[in-house]
Amino acid sequence: MSNQKPRVVVLGAGYAGMMTTKKLTKLLRPEEAEIVLVNKHNYHYQTTWLHQVAAGTINQNQVRMMISDVIDTKNRVKFIQDSVVEIKKDEKTVILESGELQYDILVVGLGFESATFGIPGMKENAFSIQTINSSRLIYDHIEYQFSRYKNEEGNNEDLLTILVGGSGFTGIEYVGELTESVKKLCKKYDIPRYKARIINVEAAPSILPGFDEELVSYAKASLEARGVEFRTGTMIKECKEDGFVVGEDEEKIKAGTVVWTGGVQANSILGESGFEITKGRVTVNNDLRAPGYRDIFILGDCAWAMDKENDRPYPPNAQNAMQQADTAAYNIKSLIYGGPMQEYQFDNKGTVASLGGSEAIGTVFDRQLFGKPAKTMKNVVDNRYLFLLGGPRLILKKGRLKLF
Ligand code: FAD
Ligand code: NAD
Repeated sequence: MSNQKPRVVVLGAGYAGMMTTKKLTKLLRPEEAEIVLVNKHNYHYQTTWLHQVAAGTINQNQVRMMISDVIDTKNRVKFIQDSVVEIKKDEKTVILESGELQYDILVVGLGFESATFGIPGMKENAFSIQTINSSRLIYDHIEYQFSRYKNEEGNNEDLLTILVGGSGFTGIEYVGELTESVKKLCKKYDIPRYKARIINVEAAPSILPGFDEELVSYAKASLEARGVEFRTGTMIKECKEDGFVVGEDEEKIKAGTVVWTGGVQANSILGESGFEITKGRVTVNNDLRAPGYRDIFILGDCAWAMDKENDRPYPPNAQNAMQQADTAAYNIKSLIYGGPMQEYQFDNKGTVASLGGSEAIGTVFDRQLFGKPAKTMKNVVDNRYLFLLGGPRLILKKGRLKLF
């Protein structure tokens, strides 16, 4: 480290980037380090609420907040609104769309992108829930298809079918929200509800593979009762503009809207910048640094951090991203002062998933939650994040104020 105060550059203002920046401002005084945050937009958004934007059940403005509202970008953190193009790790330089940026310590929190596993046509033809804009586009498309059905000749009912590939938590939370919006769209366009279909296709024998069986049964029954059709044990082989090709017999399931929620991988900028990739994410050491690079921390959905006890990677979720931010900030201070590095350990407090309306499921501290209590817990979890980021003021502005 040079004699000048070090420059810590944080890439991405998602859960990992925002919480690392916030924590660094608490751990380091202005004379100890310059902190620079780079993000595509001047706002931060709650990725965990994007399925609601994609279903039209929440206003996009509720999901995003100005970065300058929660981080002191006037006096403490230098904010650069720009897109990262490449990381030149051996030159300690980040290439941005409109310039270059040198760093002493780098934190990468550039988030996820949809993983399509080379399925033909998926990238080109399916929508995916990735950003505010990609999510808005999905809802606008669904409504457009309903409007076409009503206004075009031929009564093509396929236009009213929404096909969702993958029933991990994103797919399941999304079809749950769709049950709400489809009901409203049918009313708005004067279409009988039974004509609009929501179909979820999953390769595994059950939805939410690997999750608690009782909760899975509850979720399935609740969603089916509200009109979701499941095709489990059905592998998607190809995606066409108007549907999926599935299974050994290459059956075609037609739809007016096709959405892929079949998995995530790290932002591809990392692979393109030469980082070592394991199953789509960047391999990191226990202290969250990229192997061989003492000054680069990789966090959140970009990182493949191993849970050694259970011999599997930590999950790419917001809870993990936020906890990694704490360890990274601590380790950055240690790096500046030559202290010991902390090993990252994920403390899993549970999982709660919404199923649309007042329905949800979850396990919290090893207790199962169903229906309204689970929904309340989900709202509490969401509000807790807002509290950590911006205190009670942010909960009042953006929070889930109706808890029950
Ligand atoms: P992100 O939050 O995705 O942030 C990445 C940031 O980087 C964004 O601000 C983006 O604009 C910015 N960025 C990207 N590329 C560039 C670039 N080239 N230049 C500059 N900036 C860039 N997890 C949970 O724990 N609980 C949940 O309930 C939950 N629900 C979810 C619901 C949905 C619909 C989805 C999709 C995911 C959900 N997850 C949930 C997972 C969770 O959202 C992610 O694990 C989490 O967002 C990862 O945080 P991150 O900071 O790594 O990335
Ligand atoms: P995922 O990888 O968890 O689920 C993808 C699903 O798609 C899997 O069930 C998989 O079997 C299926 N799939 C993959 N290829 C297929 C094919 N060819 N045909 C049919 N099905 C196929 O991805 P996700 O749901 O986007 O979740 C990503 C991460 O975000 C996870 O860590 C998840 O826990 C987290 N998340 C959490 C919440 C929550 O806690 N409420 C909500 C959303 C996402």
